[in-house]
Amino acid sequence: MTHQVQLFINGEFVPSKSDRFIPVTDPATQEVIAQVPCTTADEMAFAIASAKEAFKSWKEVPVSERARLMMRFAHLLKEHQTEIAEIICRELGKTVEDAKGDVWRGIEVVEQAANIPSLMMGETVENVARSIDTYSYIQPLGVCAGITPFNFPAMIPLWMFPMAIACGNTFILKPSEQDPMTVNKIAELFALAGAPAGVLQVVHGNKEQVDVLLRHPDIKAISFVGSVNVGQYIYKTGTDHLKRVQAFAGAKNHMVIMPDANKQQVINALVGASVGAAGQRCMAISVAVFVGDSQQWIPEVAAAIAKVRPGVYTDPDAAYGPQISPQAKARILSLIEQGKVEGATCLVDGSAVQVPGYPNGNWVGPTVFSDVTPEMTIYKEEIFGPVLATVNAASLDEAIELVNNSPYGNGTSIFTASGAAARKYQHEIEVGQVGINIPIPVPLPFFSFTGWKGSFYGDQHAYGKQAVRFYTETKTITARWFDDSIPVSGPNMSINLR
Ligand code: NAD
Repeated sequence: MTHQVQLFINGEFVPSKSDRFIPVTDPATQEVIAQVPCTTADEMAFAIASAKEAFKSWKEVPVSERARLMMRFAHLLKEHQTEIAEIICRELGKTVEDAKGDVWRGIEVVEQAANIPSLMMGETVENVARSIDTYSYIQPLGVCAGITPFNFPAMIPLWMFPMAIACGNTFILKPSEQDPMTVNKIAELFALAGAPAGVLQVVHGNKEQVDVLLRHPDIKAISFVGSVNVGQYIYKTGTDHLKRVQAFAGAKNHMVIMPDANKQQVINALVGASVGAAGQRCMAISVAVFVGDSQQWIPEVAAAIAKVRPGVYTDPDAAYGPQISPQAKARILSLIEQGKVEGATCLVDGSAVQVPGYPNGNWVGPTVFSDVTPEMTIYKEEIFGPVLATVNAASLDEAIELVNNSPYGNGTSIFTASGAAARKYQHEIEVGQVGINIPIPVPLPFFSFTGWKGSFYGDQHAYGKQAVRFYTETKTITARWFDDSIPVSGPNMSINLR
């Protein structure tokens, strides 16, 4: 019997009564390692009702106790980091180090959630009028929901529910159906840390279950991370049902290389940032813009990338793992073909790469194109595979114009020895996360993850102070306490507080 992934509802792991399941496969072999249920309508209703019920008591739990829960949870995640990473390796195929990093970046958010008392401080002004004070409190919204992608099965769920729950909300998580077991392990540890029943629910499935969350009147806010088309759908449908929505979507991240940059640093940074994690990172560098004479380095960059080999997670020499599914692999191969047909020069072609002993794995070797132009499909579309497009620009101004014309705005970086060039780039670029001599500038959780343009729909971003704003409502109180020793004057006919 294949393992059946359970639901986590009202504090218990339970098998679904669904008659529909989706196979979870090992992407290096196609072996079916589990079956994930499509949660039934009754189970969805029960999960939402129990989150709503749990909210009544959870919101009354003192903020310092909520913080302590996060401290215990962070501790347990650290203790079980390797175990969680192993699940990620099996269901997603990441290398062990990469999988541990996935968990670690999530732990950092839980540590940030443990700072919730100071993050939830309101504002006060004494004497807004004579003997009248105004102060604000931040209060939780109610039941919030999260819908997460396959590529960071630990980190991205941990971007969401610890912050939401630390704020006093309860949460329903619908992880990716492609690697759902990581979240179940994390939920188990959250319960072990002392989370009361109903505070976190995990439901499984795909569009049908997401649609329930998007439309249900008891869900107050939706956090989504995934592809562009789905992100737009989530944002439109969620807001149409009068919910607060933050939707993090796809990307096409550019690295600009100035001729005064250090060549070896550029090569080292580009190799890891472009093909690392099989290119399945929303902050991966998929376009390298070589400015002026730095174009001479393209053959050396290609030679360095050509040396990188994918493999299974049990192979310590593997640089990255397989693509998540045969469909993802087929899509990437077809985009590589299109690149060739549309006239780009394929300097390194990973289409036919094989990993000995794993003939059925979703392998794509590192691939590099030069002479790419903005009209080409490989430039315009998010490939989400180990494929780097190189583009030439005559000047920094031309590079900035190119990046600013992209509909995406998740991340970008510039490699240069010039402070003036870096300053100009950080100021003029229309992208939400900028690295200066740092290829993948993902902010630590005391900042927020701030994609722009087509990479993000909403206004308050993930983790950090912005997540607290997203998961809370501000209540502003204006108060006067009468001194009984002073005689009461007549009725006040004006709305003026003086
Ligand atoms: P996806 O959009 O296919 O799936 C994401 C989630 O949405 C899953 O839980 C899935 O079940 C659900 N879903 C899928 N189709 C749906 C539909 N029609 N209606 C409602 N829900 C649906 O994304 P993916 O392939 O799992 O993840 C890769 C994508 O995520 C890439 O585009 C990547 O750039 C993006 N991503 C973005 C960020 C970011 O911070 N901007 C971070 C990680 C990944």
